[in-house]
Amino acid sequence: MIVKPRIRGFICTTAHPAGCAAHVNQQIDYVIGQGDAADGAFGNVLVLGCSGGYGLASRIVAGFGCGAKTLGVSFEKAPTESKTASAGWYNNKAFEARAAEQGLYAKTLDGDAFSDAMREEVLETIKADLGHIDLVVYSLASPVRQHPKTEVLHRSSIKPLGEVLDIKTVHVEKGEVSNVALEPATVEEIADTVTVMGGEDWEYWMDALLAADLLAPKAKTVAYTYIGSELTWPIYWEGTLGKAKADLDRASAQIQQKLQSIGGDARVAVLKAIVSQASAAIPVVPLYAALLFRVMKEQGSHEDCIEHIDRLFASQLQPEAEMRLDEAGRIRVDDLELADRVQAEVKRRWPLVDTENLPELGDLTGFREDFLKIFGFGIDGVDYDADVDPQRIS
Ligand code: NAD
Repeated sequence: MIVKPRIRGFICTTAHPAGCAAHVNQQIDYVIGQGDAADGAFGNVLVLGCSGGYGLASRIVAGFGCGAKTLGVSFEKAPTESKTASAGWYNNKAFEARAAEQGLYAKTLDGDAFSDAMREEVLETIKADLGHIDLVVYSLASPVRQHPKTEVLHRSSIKPLGEVLDIKTVHVEKGEVSNVALEPATVEEIADTVTVMGGEDWEYWMDALLAADLLAPKAKTVAYTYIGSELTWPIYWEGTLGKAKADLDRASAQIQQKLQSIGGDARVAVLKAIVSQASAAIPVVPLYAALLFRVMKEQGSHEDCIEHIDRLFASQLQPEAEMRLDEAGRIRVDDLELADRVQAEVKRRWPLVDTENLPELGDLTGFREDFLKIFGFGIDGVDYDADVDPQRIS
């Protein structure tokens, strides 16, 4: 079949097999070319949320930068004869194929990482194949979580707190800038968002690994968060998602204490805004990101997903790294996004930006290109008119 992007709101319902594979290979080539993530820094790495965005980038840097054996967990949709898979399914296949070429262990388990059954499967796989884990990367982003103890299905909300928020946003497809009124979250919606995106599941994972004695001495774990600029705080850091991320900080302190017994370390790492399946769904963020990307590109400090994670591993995670921590003990690699020079310019443009001048002040084109790349479209060297088998990556 010929696969073209089919966009519905902030999701693309098709993914290009060869395009996704080429995108993964580009990221692998970048990391190999950099050569700055310490080889041998981590022997065995578990990546929860390994198939896209920051989790995939982490798996690539761990595998191809540090030479680690990687076990990944993700929740992706397999293809059928007539329907493409989700992008992450192709990404996993491409990662595994490239790892196999290099004789590098890579196994992916597809299923619900929030479930006890998946935790059990992961523990069994570690026992059988790896023996222990040196680094656990927690990079799940999901709109729903079925709680493993109560079996209640919780849904997250992306809402402000307290009162209606009247704020600027952009319609990504149409390029129209307008104001939206966002209703505040109810108490239940806040609690549900914390249940889905907070730190409880990370704690469950680390408790299970510790109890099964599957963490190596001095094992590390890192979970990802976003704080961002004051411009997005009303919808992010001070909204429902921020409450969930505050809970991640709580969990980090708890896990840190428990890891004392093995001399381990648990950290939340604050990352920069990028385009991912998860972030494209957040109102306001695409407009902020369009301005941010333009300013960072003009000032020469822009990083894409893989560049950012390569820097995280090279400068903060490897054993000899001198971590740049904030007062809450989080690793900060959002320093370039939050640099005064960048933020002053983004904040100057924010009140000025409208539909007409967005192409001049912002980089919506770059945002859209990054969005399509997530689904394997717009990748150099891929023949998008070729007939492809949706069940194979090449
Ligand atoms: P993403 O949507 O690209 O990836 C999410 C991953 O989670 C995928 O691998 C998906 O398969 C997996 N997943 C979702 N539900 C699952 C389930 N039930 N079981 C197993 N796997 C499941 O997301 P992302 O943007 O890379 O976000 C990852 C983390 O990084 C999140 O904590 C997010 O808050 C954080 N972060 C993102 C940004 C950004 O701009 N995108 C910035 C800073 C921090």
